[in-house]
Amino acid sequence: MGSQKKFRVIVVGGGVGGLAAAHAFEKAGIDHIVLEKGEIAPARGASIGIYPHGARILQQFGTLQAVDDETYPIERAKNFLPDGTLIANSELFRFLRQYHGYPIPVLERRRFLEIMYDGLSDKSLIKPHSKVVDIVDSEDSVKVVLADGTVEEGDLVLGVDGVHSLVRSLMWRNANAAIPGFITANEKKTLHADYSLLIGFSETGPHMSPSDLYCTHYDGKSFLTIGGKKHTFWFVFFKNDRVHWPALPRWTQADAERRAAECMDCPISETQVFGELWKTAIRTELVNVEEGLFEHMFFGRVVLAGDAVHKMTPNIGLGGNCAMESVVVLTNLLHKAIKEHPQGKPDKAAIQNVLHEYQKDRQVRMRQFIDFSSLATKIQAWETTWYKVLSRVMPFLPDDTFAKQASILFKAAPKLDFIPVPGNLKGSMKWDDDVLEAKYRESFPRPSVSDWARSMLRYTFKPALSLCVLWIFLMVRSSKGSDAVASNWVAR
Ligand SMILES: Cc1cc2nc3c(=O)[nH]c(=O)nc-3n(C[C@H](O)[C@H](O)[C@H](O)COP(=O)(O)OP(=O)(O)OC[C@H]3O[C@@H](n4cnc5c(N)ncnc54)[C@H](O)[C@@H]3O)c2cc1C
Repeated sequence: MGSQKKFRVIVVGGGVGGLAAAHAFEKAGIDHIVLEKGEIAPARGASIGIYPHGARILQQFGTLQAVDDETYPIERAKNFLPDGTLIANSELFRFLRQYHGYPIPVLERRRFLEIMYDGLSDKSLIKPHSKVVDIVDSEDSVKVVLADGTVEEGDLVLGVDGVHSLVRSLMWRNANAAIPGFITANEKKTLHADYSLLIGFSETGPHMSPSDLYCTHYDGKSFLTIGGKKHTFWFVFFKNDRVHWPALPRWTQADAERRAAECMDCPISETQVFGELWKTAIRTELVNVEEGLFEHMFFGRVVLAGDAVHKMTPNIGLGGNCAMESVVVLTNLLHKAIKEHPQGKPDKAAIQNVLHEYQKDRQVRMRQFIDFSSLATKIQAWETTWYKVLSRVMPFLPDDTFAKQASILFKAAPKLDFIPVPGNLKGSMKWDDDVLEAKYRESFPRPSVSDWARSMLRYTFKPALSLCVLWIFLMVRSSKGSDAVASNWVAR
């Protein structure tokens, strides 16, 4: 990159992943800019729930307290039949808190983005109303072209521009121009949707506990209702025929109203029908429920994270947490590469190594999250008889079964590995990286005072004593020698 000295990342997208990248790069001292086509924290979308693997990262960013202050943590999950009969009443979220030490808040997505933005030290690096339209990738640098003709130059582009990612399309174009057929037509069809989703939120009313999550099962449909301090967030999943990207339909507000009309009289609990939520709705939207994990997460100097490359169904609420995870993994690798490079500016080969490592890590872990989320979607909406049976059997399993499965995934989460996790939120389960660090410390233990004294004795005192003895011996010998010379001289 010619005269430019510092390694610079151009982040495209100022949503969950983009603002997480701004925090992570700020902590790592990596030069960056975040380009967002709209405003930061727009009044769109519904909620975001933060699970322990995301919470630990937010704690490192310094934004966790503000997120937790926004609402009450979710405690219980209740499942209902289509007639409103309660079939399961689980302490799922309490177990998760007990295992990892973190409460599970669910807050408005817009508020979450505001908190993330407010927590940044240097807001001048976040550029709203900066729509990216092209990427020119070359040997020495990468250029990002904005809709107003401005060009930003850097060493790496991080595309966190969501499920309809333009960066992904531009990366494919550049890849296939360089290596024909590198991205196959099949890979481009990775993203598919089996469901559409009616999203909305209302004021929390008297029928909804502000710490409960309700799941109501229907054949080919499910309702999720999450009570919060101010708002109740609700989601209706509708099973459709599978459609693949790029043929995914765009839904209008009229489509949303048509879908809502089908559900007005549907019970969502023992005491409430859907129409009660709909009539007090603050915001509603109908969207596709895409899912898919792309094989290629990078090409050249362009890398993808978040929904652009690992999109999961939102039934558990893991996509945003995973976007933050991916940003953290990339930051750790870049931080190390920059530190190891003599001028603090890794060359293209070093960047490729970083991106290979990143892809290797993310492919395995994101597959687990996507499959886990997909299973929840199918069980909740009784996709087939098999899933219906599962939903009826699960309440008879020990209450902590689901929490334990989820925790196996959570405890293997990454964190920024170059700064500590402040505070002391500990659960009954240990994080895998803490266990690894402890093992490392066991094999290379930090010396205690007695170890230090022993090694001083062994490596310093004993050799010094030996040297002293040797020195005295030589002195005595040499003085005996000079006495003999002196007495000879006197005798003469
Ligand atoms: C109904 C619903 C509920 C959910 N609940 C949860 C939950 O509880 N917990 C959870 O962890 N996840 C949840 N998710 C998933 C979560 O919202 C996403 O996984 C997360 O937002 C992905 O972050 P991202 O940064 O990849 O994309 P986004 O957050 O979508 O951000 C992409 C950004 O890129 C910008 N952009 C796009 N194109 C351009 C361009 N050309 N130039 C510049 N900027 C551009 C967009 O304007 C946008 O701001 C939910 C999703 C849905 C649909």
